[in-house]
Amino acid sequence: MSSPERVKIVVIGAGQAGLSVAYYLRRFELVAGEDFVMLDRAPGPGGAWQHRWSSLRLGSAHRVNDLPGMADLGLSFDTADRSLPAREVVADYYGRFEQHFGLDVRRPMDVRSVTNEGADLLVRYDDLSPQPIEEQQARGFFGRRRKSFQEPEPTAPRHELAAQFLVNATGTWGSPFVPYYPGMADFQGRHVHTSDFADAEDFRDKHVVVVGGGTSAIGFMLELEGVAAGLTWVSRRPIDWLDRQELDLEGASAAVAIQDEAARSGRALPSIVSGTGVPKSRRIAAGIERGLLVARPMFDRIAADRVIWDGDGDAPAGEVRADAIIWATGFRPELRHLSPLRLREKAGGVTVGQGASWNDPRIFLAGYGPQASTIGASRAGRMIARQIMAMI
Ligand SMILES: Cc1cc2nc3c(=O)[nH]c(=O)nc-3n(C[C@H](O)[C@H](O)[C@H](O)COP(=O)(O)OP(=O)(O)OC[C@H]3O[C@@H](n4cnc5c(N)ncnc54)[C@H](O)[C@@H]3O)c2cc1C
Repeated sequence: MSSPERVKIVVIGAGQAGLSVAYYLRRFELVAGEDFVMLDRAPGPGGAWQHRWSSLRLGSAHRVNDLPGMADLGLSFDTADRSLPAREVVADYYGRFEQHFGLDVRRPMDVRSVTNEGADLLVRYDDLSPQPIEEQQARGFFGRRRKSFQEPEPTAPRHELAAQFLVNATGTWGSPFVPYYPGMADFQGRHVHTSDFADAEDFRDKHVVVVGGGTSAIGFMLELEGVAAGLTWVSRRPIDWLDRQELDLEGASAAVAIQDEAARSGRALPSIVSGTGVPKSRRIAAGIERGLLVARPMFDRIAADRVIWDGDGDAPAGEVRADAIIWATGFRPELRHLSPLRLREKAGGVTVGQGASWNDPRIFLAGYGPQASTIGASRAGRMIARQIMAMI
């Protein structure tokens, strides 16, 4: 491989956090594509939002904060069309934002590893674009294990960038979390994580168990009512209902402080909903009122076609038929590609304060811990760009 392209900064991820950092780097007069390069694995703009299910609307979970500088384009999520799928609106707004500020995001580029090469951080990535047939033949791709033409070849990474600084803004969507329960592997129905949920119609006339105590689980219960033949909601913890209609992420200082404390001490990040509680929008309050949104304690085990409470804990013994279990059990930060940097602590997390790694001052984690909301991610931009500019 020829010597790597050299830049000051590589930003991995073009979601709310990465775009926000890029916006401030531009404000500091750095040039996109020359001083800093953005890489994103996804085929188009939108960050994680482009992958969310089509019935999700802006505001059906929480408020989506504007990106810094979005007002320059005359755009705001507060006035966006709520009849359209959130994934379309966000992808459209982010796309226009990228274009307006000339961010020149390179995609679909999948970062496979980042290594410490002394003065440089070396970013290795694959181009996931479908390859022209002739090129595939020349590389001898045919006849090897491939699922479809679109699927990238699992070969060694083919591109390298050498950078002075790294901003990792890879979010969590690519790292779904499903807890282990006895019998999971014997289940004959479908295990579906939030990240796989596409359409309530996929569950028509099925018996569905929804697991989780956050807004995604609640959203699925509301969507599946009247569609599924049987619907059961279970949660590991009792639901912490708030007497408010909307979650004020900006004002959720206790939850942010819990995340910040965990990030600063290098512990695994706790679930956000455990710190914020769940607001009762009118739709949710009505669901509680009619007895739909009443969570049972978590089941103890799973059999081929049912979930089972053994009756030796808080919940009485019982069982419920299940054709599908929807695991709305959250995500973990997507940091696999950073493993060669050995940032992970024994306590399970990465030590991060003000968006900066405490182990390597050249590395920043935007959107991590206390920044893991659209408002936190937007704030991360200024904070991180300033720190980089002070060192450049
Ligand atoms: C179901 C759900 C609903 C939510 N609703 C709200 C809400 O209403 N309001 C709110 O404030 N927050 C909400 N959040 C949280 C919110 O999505 C995030 O805080 C914010 O959008 C995340 O932005 P981000 O830039 O950190 O990550 P993302 O939007 O996930 O962007 C990360 C980007 O990194 C790219 N990437 C990842 N790994 C690699 C790699 N190895 N190589 C190259 N690229 C990579 C991905 O393709 C992606 O584009 C929700 C989260 C979930 C899961």
